[in-house]
Amino acid sequence: MSAKSTLNQVDPKISEAMENELARQRDCLEMIPSENFTSMNVLHALGSVLTNKYSEGYPGKRYYGGNQFIDVIETLAIARAKALFKVPYANVQPYSGSPANFAVYAALCDRGDTIMGLNLTDGGHLTHGWKTSMTGQFFNSVPYHVKADGYIDVDEVRSLAIKEKPKLIWIGATAYSRALPFEEFSKIADEVGAYLAADISHIAGLVAAGAHASPAPYAHIITTTTHKTLRGPRGAMIMATERGLKKDPELGDKLDKAVFPGLQGGPHDNTTAGIAVALLEASTPEFREYGNQIVNNAKALAATLMKKGLKLVTNGTENHLILIDLTPFGNGKGVFAQEALDLAGIVVNKNTIPKEPSSPFYPSGVRLGTPAITTRGMKEQEMESIGSIIADVINEVKDYEMSGDKEVRMATMKKFRAEIKSNDAIKSARAKTLEICAKFPLYPGLES
Ligand SMILES: *Cc1c(COP(=O)(O)O)cnc(C)c1O
Repeated sequence: MSAKSTLNQVDPKISEAMENELARQRDCLEMIPSENFTSMNVLHALGSVLTNKYSEGYPGKRYYGGNQFIDVIETLAIARAKALFKVPYANVQPYSGSPANFAVYAALCDRGDTIMGLNLTDGGHLTHGWKTSMTGQFFNSVPYHVKADGYIDVDEVRSLAIKEKPKLIWIGATAYSRALPFEEFSKIADEVGAYLAADISHIAGLVAAGAHASPAPYAHIITTTTHKTLRGPRGAMIMATERGLKKDPELGDKLDKAVFPGLQGGPHDNTTAGIAVALLEASTPEFREYGNQIVNNAKALAATLMKKGLKLVTNGTENHLILIDLTPFGNGKGVFAQEALDLAGIVVNKNTIPKEPSSPFYPSGVRLGTPAITTRGMKEQEMESIGSIIADVINEVKDYEMSGDKEVRMATMKKFRAEIKSNDAIKSARAKTLEICAKFPLYPGLES
C-alpha cells in the first residue's frame, strides 16, 4: 500500500465516508463484542493485489493457472490454523461465519434432518436453526435454552437429544457470558450418535490465548469467524478434530466439498492472506496476554456495573462479554440504553435476554464486550471509568417507558431522541469518552 491512492480525488464521496468511519472508530469506545481492530499488517494483506486472483479449488488442485503463490499463502494459513487450534484438518475458504456453518450442514445433513442449537433469543446464532434462517427452514430445528439463571440448560439438551435423535448438535453463542460446557455436550452427542459442532466465532481469540477451554478434545467439528476476538479479517474457518476424523474418516473431504464446489466459487485470496497473518499474530506470547486481558477487563467492567446497581445476566462474566438485564427498570428498554450510549461515544447493541419479556426488535438487554477496547491497550483502570460512565448514562434513560402500542412508541422515541441530545449528563459522558479514546491512539499515521 505504498503507491499513492487517488481515491479522494476520483471518488470523494466514498473517500470522505471512509475517513469519517476511521474517525468514528478512533473517537468512540467500540464495545460491540463481535467487533475488533485488526492489525495494519492484516489491513495490508486485505488491500492487496491478491483480490485480483481466481483460485477455485484447493492448493495443488486449482481450476485456474497462475496459482503458485496463492498456494503458498493458503497452505500456510491451513498449517497455522491446524497448529494454533491443535486440529488435523482446516478449511480457510468460507466467506464468513454464516456460510461456514451452512457448509457444515451441507457436509453432514440431508433436508429435513433434525438439528439442535441454542435458541436465538437465549443467546444462540441465527445459523444454529433459527426460524428466519434457511437453517431453520431446511432442517428440523429443535432449539435448547438457558435456565432462569442464564446458564445453558444441559439437562434439557440431554433430554431433547435423547427424544429427538439429532444428526447435528451446535454448541456456541453470540450472547453468552459464561464458559461453554464442551465436555458435557460431547457426552450427550456420543450418547445419541450426533455430530457435535462447536461454533467458537465469538471466543476463538480466547481459545487461542488459553483464556477459554478449547473444544478440540470434545467436538467433531469447529467453526469460527476470523474477525471477532481472533482479530483477523472478515472471514471464517472450518476445522475437524481428531475425534471428528475418528467418527468419520471422510469428514475432511466432505467439508472441503461442501465449501467448494458445494456452496462457493473462488476463495477470497486477500482474505486468506489476512487470515494467515492473523493466525501468526495469534500464536505469539503478546496475543496470549491480549486474550487474558480481554477477560480480566470484562470481569473488571462487570464488577463496576454491578457495584453501580445494574443487573447482569448470570451475575457476571467469564469471557469477553457482558449482558445487562434492564428489566428491573421495565421491559423493552434496550433501545433507549443503546441510543443514549451511542451519543455518549460508547457503541453497544441492544439484545434479548433469557426469557425475553419484550421482542427481538425492542429487547430488554444490552450486550457489550471488551475485545476492541483491549486491543487499544485499555486495562482494568479504564474499565472502572467506562463502567461508571455506562451506569450514569443508563440512569438518565431508565425511566422512559417502552409501549407495546406502535403510535405511543413512536411518540416516545421522538421525545426521547430530542431530550437525550440536550441532556447534560450525556454530554459530560461524551467528553469523558473522548478523553479516554485520546489516550489510546488507534492506527496512528493511517489516513483512511
Ligand atoms: C458472528 C457469528 C456467526 C456468523 O458470522 P458472520 O461472519 O456474521 O456470517 C456465526 N456464529 C456465531 C456464534 C457468531 O457469533
